Amino acid sequence: MSTKYIFVTGGVTSSLGKGIIAASLAKLLQARNLRVTIQKFDPYINIDPGTLNPYEHGECYVTEDGAETDLDLGHYERFLNVYTSKANNVTTGKIYRTVIDKEREGAYLGKTVQVIPHITDEIKRRMLLLGKTGNYDIVITELGGTVGDIESLPFVEAVRQLQWELPDEDCLVVHLTLVPYLNAAKELKTKPTQHSVRMLQQNGVNPNVIVCRTEHPIPYDIRKKVALFCNVKPNAVIESIDAASIYEVPLIMMKEKLDEIILQKFHMTDTPAPDLKDWTAFLQKLFHPKCEVDIALVGKYVELQDAYKSILESFIHAGTANECKVNVHTVHSEFVDGNNIEEKLGGMDGILVAPGFGERGIEGKILAVQYAREHKVPFFGICLGMQMAVIEYARNILGLKDAMTTEINPTTPNPVIDLMEEQKSLTIKGGTMRLGAYECELEENSLAYRIYGKRRISERHRHRYEFNNNYVERIKEAGMIPTGKNPDTGLVEIVELPEHPFFIGVQFHPELKSTVERPQPIFVAFVKAALEHKASR
Ligand code: GLN
Repeated sequence: MSTKYIFVTGGVTSSLGKGIIAASLAKLLQARNLRVTIQKFDPYINIDPGTLNPYEHGECYVTEDGAETDLDLGHYERFLNVYTSKANNVTTGKIYRTVIDKEREGAYLGKTVQVIPHITDEIKRRMLLLGKTGNYDIVITELGGTVGDIESLPFVEAVRQLQWELPDEDCLVVHLTLVPYLNAAKELKTKPTQHSVRMLQQNGVNPNVIVCRTEHPIPYDIRKKVALFCNVKPNAVIESIDAASIYEVPLIMMKEKLDEIILQKFHMTDTPAPDLKDWTAFLQKLFHPKCEVDIALVGKYVELQDAYKSILESFIHAGTANECKVNVHTVHSEFVDGNNIEEKLGGMDGILVAPGFGERGIEGKILAVQYAREHKVPFFGICLGMQMAVIEYARNILGLKDAMTTEINPTTPNPVIDLMEEQKSLTIKGGTMRLGAYECELEENSLAYRIYGKRRISERHRHRYEFNNNYVERIKEAGMIPTGKNPDTGLVEIVELPEHPFFIGVQFHPELKSTVERPQPIFVAFVKAALEHKASR
């Protein structure tokens, strides 16, 4: 069977949840025993989102092979429980870089290099790349941005050409739109959908399925109207109603028969019915928790939920594994001080100090670590959060009052956190951090070992600084134990306080590997510890 390609475009507005629809569709097809992957094509000119401020684009998601990618890839992995890779996120910047490099090599000698065909050819080559590996029955491509944006035109043009080049039964376009409800008129409005489909059609692309985001159920006559004006059959107009959880969307799409319509068009009607037993069991637990815990997420990007997407999702997985609802309270580290810390953290059953970059909010994070350590509240530090735990310990237990990371103070007399050796000669910022999966060896007598139940683990990284080995012995003697190290370089990856009921700091990002089917073990143990802490109060 040839590989099938599904393109997911979006109209009307951004933030309609294209990534969730794509992931849900992929889940449904995967549940029918098909091999599915999803890729995202982003129209911006950055080579990758690694250099983007989290306020603009949310969290930067890191793959096993060390690509800094769009946060939608996190959804793909959390839904499918399958790793993505460098090839799964393409930007305009990447496309142009390839084409310009080829031009300099002389590959187009004599030709004028143009958007059509050179840029669109490169887009098409990348759109088909994963399908050509033979590893997938279906490749879903999500186009970032909204149809009608100038910058997404070459991508839409590439889809048009593929729709024309590929056999009809191998290629399909799903268009996601919004059907708003006007309260004053008590009416659902289809005009924005009509306009956005028309825009797509003006660019030569005919959507095969229209998915309508809506806050109210869409009656049959309205669906028929959308179908008529958008040139699809009424059963190809799918309602995507607001859900209580993103993890419910695959079931909602199944009820709407999104997968059936697509498989019919692909002439693949002989696939087994979707097996979503485990998924449904997860939802059952998610919606019927037996208890609750309150966890503080101490960070500086708190105004935008998407900045800590993977951490928040990991708490949903870990909470569900504990049959417990996790109430995550974001605490702005910039505004934590000695006077208000009790008020901000006093009621919390666990404290997580978040990853981050730069000076803002650093002292608040250090105070939060100290609070967790002294009050014996379960503590979990991730990346910068782990580095702050080391600084706090050096300052308050070793008495090195000026202990700091050289990220903030390059001339501190006590650089307990310092730039990694291989980072020192680098001047370029993009794509040069320590990125992707690295192995870590655990001490047998440790919290980390009890959590993972094995000596060798592998987790993903994204940082430039590390626990300075010149201080490891002194800090260890004082009671903070390095319990996980990189077996090749000796870099400290995990620190713990054995005297504390639950205190763990990790240099890696465990939140990047938590999925519905495989909740991340540290998160699961942290929620459990928070529950125990709550019970003991
Ligand atoms: N800024 C720190 C570093 O580069 C931590 C990075 C992070 O938290 N992801 O090492």
